[in-house]
Amino acid sequence: MHPLITGVEPGSPAEKAGLCPGDRLIAINGNEISDVLDYMFHSEEAKLHIETESPARPPRRRSFRLRKKEGEPLGLLFESYLMDKPRSCANKCLFCFIDQLPPGLRETLYFKDDDARLSFLTGSYVTLTNLSRRELDRIMSLRISPINVSVHSTNPELRRRLLGSKNAGDCLEIMRAFAGARIEMNCQIVVCPGLNDGAELERTMSDLAELFPAVASVSIVPVGLTRYRDELGLYPLEPVGPEKAREIIASAEAFSAGFMPEHGTRLFYCADELFLKAGLDIPPRDYYEGFPQYENGVGMLRSLEDEFMAALRGVEACPSGSEPHEFSVATGLASRPLLAKLLQIAESKCYYINGSVYGIENRFFGNTVDVAGLITGRDLVAQLKGKPLGSRLLISAGMLRHGGDMFLDSLTLEDASRELGVPIVPVPNDGAELLKAFMNRGA
Ligand code: SF4
Repeated sequence: MHPLITGVEPGSPAEKAGLCPGDRLIAINGNEISDVLDYMFHSEEAKLHIETESPARPPRRRSFRLRKKEGEPLGLLFESYLMDKPRSCANKCLFCFIDQLPPGLRETLYFKDDDARLSFLTGSYVTLTNLSRRELDRIMSLRISPINVSVHSTNPELRRRLLGSKNAGDCLEIMRAFAGARIEMNCQIVVCPGLNDGAELERTMSDLAELFPAVASVSIVPVGLTRYRDELGLYPLEPVGPEKAREIIASAEAFSAGFMPEHGTRLFYCADELFLKAGLDIPPRDYYEGFPQYENGVGMLRSLEDEFMAALRGVEACPSGSEPHEFSVATGLASRPLLAKLLQIAESKCYYINGSVYGIENRFFGNTVDVAGLITGRDLVAQLKGKPLGSRLLISAGMLRHGGDMFLDSLTLEDASRELGVPIVPVPNDGAELLKAFMNRGA
């Protein structure tokens, strides 16, 4: 189905050429348009021949010719961002986090997207198991790059098993074709102990390294398990414990040490969560080489600490005797030590800062889940009720969904705030913002 034009930007090349809402966009310069990628790529040029179809019966084709600056937006608006339905995944991954969610959460949390278009547009990860030959050719001919690929294993048999899909074995072949089409790929490996760790992880790293520089970065993250696995009858996966985390980090480090001298990059980056589980310090900034896998939880804590310290250096020391500003901070158990350390450093420079950091145990998902972003509103309220919280409670903005006003379990910020009797202030994952929130003496 060709996309329906729902609006035309005032003053845009499309409006000047006389295109109107209500028509369907059929083709640009002879290329059929079926979604946002076709539209983005084919509307780039300066000289356009646009064909539309009106909803009249019988439909009436119209044709427009226009000139604009190369790269200038054409100015058409469509029903949805993708101009098509998002493609859902066709896998049954042994470790799928969505499968481990209990029933009764918001419907949108159960949607499993696996859409190469979203990977390009929003950075989500895809498995390459639901793409037809035509789709693969289109990605290569439009040179949709970069694409983020959930690899997990390059051993075809093991990948089929891990992803629960008979189509999962061709991943390396597809990635080789993408590399040939000069498509950049950022990859991730979710490590499940006993399945794709050890020698299998080494094989995967070695295969991906052969695709460098098309494979530009690879994150290695531990599998996330909730307490519902048993009752939902899911495959009995082992969590990544401290020893396993250290083994995975050592294996990635050993591989990178051999790769770095020739290629100038480590290529493989372990997630913050792995270092926390291993009980090791978060590496220095240069480990992350510009943070190519930041959104995947790789380097977020290093970045937070460095930004915080840089911002603190610009703050004048405040003498003792200033009236204390009491507040509290709630976070996941994993990042509690770092936040407590940063708070202490800030307190020693600005004596009026007087905070308490609370680590919230994840009772909803189970204690193997310890990141701030998965804390529910009810866990927060239950564990902080009656505690001294000062004049405000700071939380990570990552705990909120739905435009930033609702926790994962649909409890609103307003309700949680009312129950705790204190304003709750979401703080973005940025060290300078965190310091600002520590220093803010407003009510
Ligand atoms: S690709 Fe696997 S992990 Fe991702 S949503 Fe689908 S089943 Fe779950």
